[in-house]
Order: sequence, then C-alpha cells, then structure tokens
Amino acid sequence: MIKALGYAASTATSALAPIEFERREPGSRDLVLELLYCGICHSDIHYARNEWGYSRFPIVPGHEMVGRITSVGSDVSNFKVGDLAGIGCLIDSCRHCAPCQDHEEQYCHKGVTMTYGSKERKDTNVISQGGYSTNYVVDTDFALRIPSSLDLKGVAPLLCAGITTWSPLRRWNIGPGDKVGVVGLGGLGHMAIKFAHAFGADVTLFTTSASKAADAMSLGADSVIISKDTDAMKAAREFDFILDTVSALHDINPYLSALKRNGTLCLVGLPDQQLAFKPSLVLSNKIISGSLIGGIKETQEMLNYCGENNIIADIELININEVNEAFERVVSGDVKYRFVIDLETLKNN
Ligand code: NAP
Ligand code: ZN
Ligand code: ZN
Repeated sequence: MIKALGYAASTATSALAPIEFERREPGSRDLVLELLYCGICHSDIHYARNEWGYSRFPIVPGHEMVGRITSVGSDVSNFKVGDLAGIGCLIDSCRHCAPCQDHEEQYCHKGVTMTYGSKERKDTNVISQGGYSTNYVVDTDFALRIPSSLDLKGVAPLLCAGITTWSPLRRWNIGPGDKVGVVGLGGLGHMAIKFAHAFGADVTLFTTSASKAADAMSLGADSVIISKDTDAMKAAREFDFILDTVSALHDINPYLSALKRNGTLCLVGLPDQQLAFKPSLVLSNKIISGSLIGGIKETQEMLNYCGENNIIADIELININEVNEAFERVVSGDVKYRFVIDLETLKNN
C-alpha cells in the first residue's frame, strides 16, 4: 500500500479537512504519480455533499489531475519515471463489453471505475480516492499524455471540463456554419465556448450573470443572451445545437424553443433534481441528448488538439486550505472559470 495525504469530506455536511489514507499497492501495469495540480469540478461538490445520494465517506474528491510519474510497473512501456501524466474521471473498466471495445469506457456495462468513490478493480477492499492529494496509483491504460507546450495549471481542468464539452461538440459534428448555444459560464461552459469557437461555430452564451458577458466575448463567444431576460429569450431562434452545462434546477423549455427544426439540446450538467420539458419538441423534430465525459482515446485526442492549438482552461490557482471557500464560490457562480489546487501546498499543510 502507498501512503497518501489529502483533503476529505467525512460526511455530507462537513468541511473538507486533512486526512491520511492508503492507496492500493501498485502492480506491474500501474503508474504512481506525484500530483502537482487538481481542478475543482462542480461534480466534486455534488459528490462531497451527497447531492446525488450515493456518496461514500470519507471521500477525497478531485478528478482533474496532472502529476509527475515517480514509479512504473515492470510491464509498463508507454510511460517512464519523470514523465508528466494526467488522470481524469475514469481509472478502470471491464475492457471487454461493447462500450469498452468502442473506446467509450465511461459507459462500461459492468460499471466504470471512477477516480473517487469506486471499488478499485485491482483491490476490491479499497475505495478509490481522488486528486486533492499528494499522489495517485493508476493503470497505465487510463493515464493521459500531457502536451509539453502547455501550462500545467491550465491543463488540469481539461481532464474533465475539457473532455466533457469536447465530446458532445465532436459527436454532433459542430463546425463552421453552425449556430451553437452554451448555457452557463462556469468550468464546463468556458471550455465549451473555447472549443465551439475553435471549431468555427457561431457561439452564443446564455447566462444568468450579466457580469460575465465581456469575459464570454473574450473567450470566443460571438454574442451573449441574459437568460433572465424573457424577451431576449423569446427572440433566440434557429440554433443548431445547444450545450447545457447548468449545475442546478432550471427551465430547459426556452432552450428547446430556441432550436431550429432537427436541432439538438445536449445536457451535460447534472442537477440533483428532475428537469421537465414540454412535448412541443415533437412539433419540429427536436432532440434532447445527454453526454458523460469521454473515453480515454477521445480524451487523448482532445489533449493533443489543445497542445497543437494552445488551448487551456482559465484558472484561479489556490492553496489546499482555501478549498472550502472555493466550494462556496463555485456554488455561487463566483469563479473565473475553474479553481485549480496547487498540491505543493498540501505537502507543507
Ligand atoms: P460551474 O463551474 O459551477 O458552472 C455551472 C454554471 O451554471 C454556473 O457558472 C452558472 O452560469 C450556471 N448556473 C448555476 N446555477 C444556475 C441556476 N440555478 N440557473 C441557471 N444557471 C445556473 O460547474 P461545472 O463544473 O461547469 O459543472 C456544471 C455541471 O456539469 C455540474 O452539474 C457538474 O456536476 C456537471 N458535470 C457533468 C459532467 C458530465 O460528464 N456530463 C462532467 C463534469 C461536470 P451563469 O452564471 O453563466 O448562469
Ligand atoms: Zn468533473
Ligand atoms: Zn466494459
């Protein structure tokens, strides 16, 4: 077993606090990483607060990690000690079912092993713990290569916010000539704007926060609609594709109305309550879709593209002891646009 230090929630209502714990013994196909940076995803907050109702405690959150490899197993040939590596939301899967064969491990029929809160496949006595910590043990097939040209602090959020927005934009073939809406300007939303703009689409941000309009334009949006303005929402029409990244209960019907015939509303946000929609989507053949992160192969493609096109997240770097305040600020929409923890500060904590 490997000793680790982290920040954990011990119940759904407790603040995150330092914890010492053990990771599983690394095997011949495993890497051990010394973690450098970890992003704070809204999913970490949903999970730490048990908003989805299935959290296991204590839990060390974090699934947007970048680190340096400190040891490799004897059967590892694709990474060596000293290399940088990334870890996202997935650390293992059955590898045999149809989704796994299709490189969509996130939909594994046997249940994907998540970065935190899952029973480890290689040691079922151990529950995986996330990246707000000093180190990580991961199977080499689930580690990502980090383009050397990019600032590592801004790379960490690509491992979840990046792939979660990249994957549906690619699946729905977004490109020049497409009119794309992004709902919500947070961690996911700001990556969605960057990617949709890079793919050549005309991008509109729908936001509840008028104060974010100027930032949206500099991130690559072509226009901004304040979603509280009912007249502006009624005037929003003929969108090919809208990506909804909202983390809380909200009305999706205005976005369905804004789609053109055959248009798609894709949900990636995971509010803890049910979203209702009117059957009026029947009248113009509209589609409601969903999308969960992305597979390992696709995540690597996204990282390579970011390396070639110099795309990273806009981040606020924090010390580990600021993590509880950061959680509150994410919930109130006060982050530009992803918090990333400098894990060096955990060692001296
Ligand atoms: P975030 O940084 O908190 O951004 C969410 C944004 O949603 C906020 O910035 C805000 O944008 C908007 N919003 C919040 N409350 C709202 C409300 N009541 N009504 C309307 N808009 C509201 O969160 P995130 O890290 O981007 O994650 C977003 C959601 O995606 C979370 O639910 C998370 O769990 C989920 N997620 C899903 C996947 C997946 O694989 N599908 C992966 C990662 C995360 P404005 O201020 O611009 O309105
Ligand atoms: Zn996430
Ligand atoms: Zn599988």
